[in-house]
Amino acid sequence: MNHPLELTVVMYHYVRDPGDAAEAGSGILGMSVRDFEAQLNELSQRHTFIAWPDLRAALQEDVTLPSSACLLTFDDGVSDHYVNVFKILHDRGLSGLFFVLDRRGSDGLILAHKIHFLLARLGLAGLHEAIWEKLNPAQRERFTQAEKRYQLKHPPISLDKQINLLKAVLQRDLSAEVDTLLGKLFEGHIGSENETARNYYLNPEQIREMAAGGMYFGGHSHSHPWFDWIDAEERAAEISASAEWLRQIEPGPWAFAYPYGGLAEDAPNLLKAYGFVAAFTTKAQLYHSDAYLIGRLDGEEIAHEGQGHA
Ligand SMILES: [Zn+2]
Repeated sequence: MNHPLELTVVMYHYVRDPGDAAEAGSGILGMSVRDFEAQLNELSQRHTFIAWPDLRAALQEDVTLPSSACLLTFDDGVSDHYVNVFKILHDRGLSGLFFVLDRRGSDGLILAHKIHFLLARLGLAGLHEAIWEKLNPAQRERFTQAEKRYQLKHPPISLDKQINLLKAVLQRDLSAEVDTLLGKLFEGHIGSENETARNYYLNPEQIREMAAGGMYFGGHSHSHPWFDWIDAEERAAEISASAEWLRQIEPGPWAFAYPYGGLAEDAPNLLKAYGFVAAFTTKAQLYHSDAYLIGRLDGEEIAHEGQGHA
């Protein structure tokens, strides 16, 4: 890019109400449908919404974006995006960019989502205990060391921070071994993981309908790892899986969102090689000087800030 691009990108995950088809009794909360619509109303007063092809043209052909442009993005390919988001955007004549995981029927849930379900069912202390019981002495040692390291960096005061600490240990240090362990806990406490995953993620028919309705899709990897926690070969495999998946949905070049916002130095070149021309982080910024490091604001966070100022 010749000059920094000014663009407000908003990132969303769960958009759901208790008891609706997306929440489906999981106990996992998200942004309410009402708050989501209120935020769209507010954003529309200050911004001009754009779609992914507008940004792609700005990046590739140096087409100028409208002033105060805003792009709506949705991570993880959860069914909320079909059940709640698609209709709202479609009715308003808006488009969203949906970062979907390459998941097939028997792939089950990604680790982060297994943790969400189990936290909702067992609570923080319950999940911690259930995992601890199943670890061998060497794993317990690594678990404790990792906890100590994160505790020093970010002293956990609030419950949210304690939850983030457990997530960090499970999603990074122990990600390889706890994936199976959490799968077993899932089967024991909740039910069939594959069946849950089939309802939890967008299915190909829903994706087709959304694409026909003006929505766009981008990559978000296959297994949602921290990119700085895996090696270059694994990063290439994750990105290539995304490209394969997207090829069935819409022609490229595509956009990508880094899982957890995790970065690796070689990721932009790998993304370029597999047909991606932009990548999004989770860093809150409005000016972007690198097409592979486009920052985003968290919709739920700005909603809470809005309430705080009111
Ligand atoms: Zn994600």
